[in-house]
Amino acid sequence: MASTVNKNTEAPIDASVVQTPFPNWLTSFTGLTKWPGLNPPYIPLDFINMSKIPPYKQYNSGFCDANPPEACAFDCDGCVAPDDVKTCPKLSQTFDDGPSPATEKLLNTLKHKATFFNLGYNIVNNPDMYRKVLEKGHLIGTHTWSHPYLPSLSNEKIIAQIEWSIWAMNATGNHTPKWFRPPYGGIDNRVRAITRQFGLQAVLWDHDTFDWQLVTPDNTLPPRSEQQIYDNVKKWKQNDKGLILEHDGSDRTVDIGINVNRIIGDDQFSVAQCVGGIDYIKHF
Ligand SMILES: [Zn+2]
Repeated sequence: MASTVNKNTEAPIDASVVQTPFPNWLTSFTGLTKWPGLNPPYIPLDFINMSKIPPYKQYNSGFCDANPPEACAFDCDGCVAPDDVKTCPKLSQTFDDGPSPATEKLLNTLKHKATFFNLGYNIVNNPDMYRKVLEKGHLIGTHTWSHPYLPSLSNEKIIAQIEWSIWAMNATGNHTPKWFRPPYGGIDNRVRAITRQFGLQAVLWDHDTFDWQLVTPDNTLPPRSEQQIYDNVKKWKQNDKGLILEHDGSDRTVDIGINVNRIIGDDQFSVAQCVGGIDYIKHF
């Protein structure tokens, strides 16, 4: 079993895992010689202007009265910035939290170009799977290094989560991401002011399968069955629009993703296609 990090869980690094080699250019730049654990160190970057980051307060998930509505928190108020992508003219699946050993089954099933939001930590620990996703022509965005709730972090820690995720992609697939999905939908104008300086554009969703609840049940939410997920997808399919949030971090959610793909079919868009085929930052 290769090591992967999932929501709220910390998988130990398996000694048999062949990591992405830590590149020399990254050693010259950071002074380090190996990939970090789940709490990556902040490495200052000269292109990040700290004075452009608004001083909204840090807060934990659910503590939504920390900032005024102008902070535009998606998970708190459903607030979406003009450059956020939240929906799609064609009903389309997106997959978060990989790459993982489970991703392969999904790759063998999908006949269209889908969008994956990968964790840097999982990329360097599953480098072959990351390259397979790229080789199949799918679009890969960043989902941070290790899946924290970004609004709870300092500016420096947010930068660390983004820079290390980008370095993981550079080192593993010679690839630089344009799209970014915040874990737990945790994004406000402080987080956006940082991710925009990396040239990233945030991608949210308007249809949530809650597939992860079948892997890690949450007693504070109503229980969800697989059948409910499929019933919802059939409903969403009626007007055939929107972005669906799913996960490829475990076999269970991948199996669900394959069944959802059977319901929708392969007439789907990648996130870039959703916003008109552009592959660079949208003007705002
Ligand atoms: Zn996630």
